[in-house]
Amino acid sequence: MKIAFHPDFILPLPQNHRFPMEKYHRLKTFCDTYFGNAHEIWISPEPMKDEWIKTTHSEEYIQKLQKGTLNPQEVRKLGFTWSEQLWEREKRIVQGTWELIQHAYENQCFGVNIAGGTHHAFRDRGEGFCLLNDLALGANLGILGGMDRILIVDLDVHQGNGTASLMKSNPQCFTFSMHAEKTYPLQKLESDLDVSFQPGTNDEEYLEELAFHLPILLREIQPDIILYNAGVDILNGDDVGTLNISMEGCRKRDELVFKLAANSQIPVVVTMGGGYQKNIEPIIEAHQNTILEAMKWELIMKNQS
Ligand SMILES: [Zn+2]
Repeated sequence: MKIAFHPDFILPLPQNHRFPMEKYHRLKTFCDTYFGNAHEIWISPEPMKDEWIKTTHSEEYIQKLQKGTLNPQEVRKLGFTWSEQLWEREKRIVQGTWELIQHAYENQCFGVNIAGGTHHAFRDRGEGFCLLNDLALGANLGILGGMDRILIVDLDVHQGNGTASLMKSNPQCFTFSMHAEKTYPLQKLESDLDVSFQPGTNDEEYLEELAFHLPILLREIQPDIILYNAGVDILNGDDVGTLNISMEGCRKRDELVFKLAANSQIPVVVTMGGGYQKNIEPIIEAHQNTILEAMKWELIMKNQS
């Protein structure tokens, strides 16, 4: 397994900014303690080249991001103030996901991006803390590189609207999103498969839906790789999520995805996605569980092969 991280993932933000930027540092420290800082496990991504970004985003939009010429409304939708540092950060995050995809595909293993899951980025605009779409970019580059079928499993509480829009006309990539009905983006777009939950949805109902749909998708699509957005804003207590999923329910969700993939010998690249609570500890714990489950099930997959 490889884990992608770069110090630039941590963007300095004004105090009281809603985005819990501190989590990246905490997760890096956790991984260092848990796995050791042996260089075999780490990928330290360079910024992605523009010509690769162009496979997924418009030239005009890339120019705006590069030169900082987004208009005030476009900046407001992003949720981050534009800076050269922000642009570099985004390019490193998408490169991280892409390098993990290549590695996982070639070595039939799993990969974890400490950041990523930027599923609200569209071809020519960004929103909700997402400038470039790492899942769509990874899928497009993977297909260009010879992968046959890619499954995006987006279990962040928000719908992967950008991903749905970007991959809509690509028959080689299937987009599956499970999300809360009554939160941003209020106007949902059409993924290949959408499952929408009412406020207060509990573990049982949530996990039942996942356990129903995912095995069918794996059987029918037989993907070369799964790109898994493991946002932890499904947790009860999340400021925006509206669902009522426990810490254990969130862990079981991850376990289910990794277990089904491992049983079918399908590589998985997981991105951390969202999570918004004033108290950052549940966010960290849930992300750590995701990383530990990935590690565990990758090992089981290798032992079964
Ligand atoms: Zn989210």
